Amino acid sequence: MKDVTLLHPELQKIITQFLKEAEKQGFIVKVTDTLRTKKEQNELYAQGRTNPGNIVTWVKYPYSNHNWGMAFDICRNDGKGAYNDSDNWFFKVGQIGKSFGLEWGGDWKPQDKPHFQLNKYGSTNYLFQTYKTFEGFKKTWEDLKEEDYMFVERYYKYNDTIKAYTIINENGENYIKLRDLAQLLNKNISYDVNTKITSLDDIIETKNIMVNDKEITVKCIDSNGFNYINAREIGDALGYDVGYNASIQKIFFNIKKSIKEKFKILFK
Ligand SMILES: [Zn+2]
Repeated sequence: MKDVTLLHPELQKIITQFLKEAEKQGFIVKVTDTLRTKKEQNELYAQGRTNPGNIVTWVKYPYSNHNWGMAFDICRNDGKGAYNDSDNWFFKVGQIGKSFGLEWGGDWKPQDKPHFQLNKYGSTNYLFQTYKTFEGFKKTWEDLKEEDYMFVERYYKYNDTIKAYTIINENGENYIKLRDLAQLLNKNISYDVNTKITSLDDIIETKNIMVNDKEITVKCIDSNGFNYINAREIGDALGYDVGYNASIQKIFFNIKKSIKEKFKILFK
């Protein structure tokens, strides 16, 4: 089945955000499969085994997250071939899904690149042991309260750039999405599924600059409207050794030994 509304409410919310973000980044995604009944799962399992076709699933009912409304499959919908992966399309979209807390089948061995699932409510084995059937699990969904947050638009300024973000205003406190904050502060945001750590990192770029008529490439960070360039690299280009004296906590620039030697020769 392709109906997204058959999925767990939390997964439905995530899909909406995921599709929106993917589209923003230029990826047109189509959801091809959501909930699978016992009959559908076992028919699919037979495919490539006792029935003709390619193997498309590795598990029987009830051990697929599709059987619990906790998984969906996608393909591309940009007219370049539904499963064309020559441009690493599925990897790129997989990373977007992971940033929303989804597990991506492309990280598995064997891979299942079109597949995404939400593991928040336990393994399929746990769901089976606890709820016995999909219907039993689904009953618990009704207890989930629809959060009634107040969403408001606020303007935020960083350096000279003003941007509008939709934030939650709860008891007088403003809650901005970490993703939005990272964008405002010009940081890279990434999520590691293994460590479950979200990182905000400086965006390190490279710049070509001229030093004594010679073009060199240095790493740089753009912050507060200034380019911060790598001290060691610029020092090197100017003929200095750059180091750090930990005891006095000072960075030092020393004229390179090779240059000092040259001076010595000149003064002889
Ligand atoms: Zn799947």
